[in-house]
Amino acid sequence: MQFIDLKAQYNVLKDEIDANIRTVLESAKYIGGPEVKELETKLAEFVGRKHCITCANGTDALQIAYMLYGIGQGDAVFCPDITFISSTEPSKMFGAASVFCDIQPDTYNLSPESLEKQIQAVLAEGKLTPKAVVAVDILGNPCDYDSIIPICEKYNLILIEDAAQSFGASYKGKKCGSFGHIATTSFFPAKPLGCYGDGGAIFLDDDELAAVCRSVCVHGKGPRGKYDNIRVGMNSRLDTIQAAILLPKFKALADYEVDNRQQVAKRYNEAFAPHFTTPFVQDGCVSVYAQYAILAKDTQTRDKVVAHLTQKKIPNMIYYPTPQHALPVFQNEPHYEESFINADDYCARTLSLPMHPYLSAEEQQQVIDAVLEAL
Ligand SMILES: *Cc1c(COP(=O)(O)O)cnc(C)c1O
Repeated sequence: MQFIDLKAQYNVLKDEIDANIRTVLESAKYIGGPEVKELETKLAEFVGRKHCITCANGTDALQIAYMLYGIGQGDAVFCPDITFISSTEPSKMFGAASVFCDIQPDTYNLSPESLEKQIQAVLAEGKLTPKAVVAVDILGNPCDYDSIIPICEKYNLILIEDAAQSFGASYKGKKCGSFGHIATTSFFPAKPLGCYGDGGAIFLDDDELAAVCRSVCVHGKGPRGKYDNIRVGMNSRLDTIQAAILLPKFKALADYEVDNRQQVAKRYNEAFAPHFTTPFVQDGCVSVYAQYAILAKDTQTRDKVVAHLTQKKIPNMIYYPTPQHALPVFQNEPHYEESFINADDYCARTLSLPMHPYLSAEEQQQVIDAVLEAL
């Protein structure tokens, strides 16, 4: 059994993917081929944004978002305590400070209350300028945007949606990737929409900023091309082959994979609800369950289940063992709130199980049986 069975998906989509790869090989347009534009157009339309600009990976997408808004020295960037380091890695790189916020106990996403408290703490101290919020749709579950957006407006903050885990998910009828001034996603193979290598994308509506974004992705190119450099940029592009792979994978996601994920989650939920905290998705929202995480009643129980699953060769992971504020790299970051109660509690009890749109009912039953046996 695989934790995320990429090969099962490939077997279903093989003919289309192979044909698309061959087309690219024969065209020799390995960078900037027509598949890239086609993908960008389709993804922008699906998400509901004016512009989609693909790039080399989800971390670059975030870094570029920081660059577009000039986030740097003296700025505070607010971010949930439970995420992958990419969300605020660019802060350190550009001399800004990562200010972590606690999470909501039910969705594990950025807590609006903690966000406002941290903004107030930064303002009260008077050293840093509150500049941006990175809202991460953790585990594929959308953040509470109706609460977060007014806070960003109140304090005049840039809102960046980190939708690396949530492509295909939606919040009250709007797709993830459509929130904030700018949103980013990742096509790392294990993400809900993954390619066969690294890839990423940026979503935004502002025409002028989109033009700057395209320039930044190609060495800060100017109107006369890439030897007319008008700003400092990066070399961050999605390979044509990856776009060609993503086209049929995107169609499968939109046609049935998001639905399949709901079925898998529902079967798990029914089996685990009596014994574990199962994922909570707000009314009117759809999660894509990039990870299916349950919370055991305590660490000891979680570790017992992990040991049993591992012994039975059932893949399992902990996303994430350490909250951001406790990572060695952020040791000297200003931590205004004294404790991150919900984030610490989440890390102490969380456990992720095999989850992907091609997980059969039989395989799933094996996982369920093994988890319940461990208790
Ligand atoms: C995976 C991930 C990223 C980074 O994506 P890469 O393509 O691996 O660089 C950023 N943020 C979150 C929340 C992620 O899970």
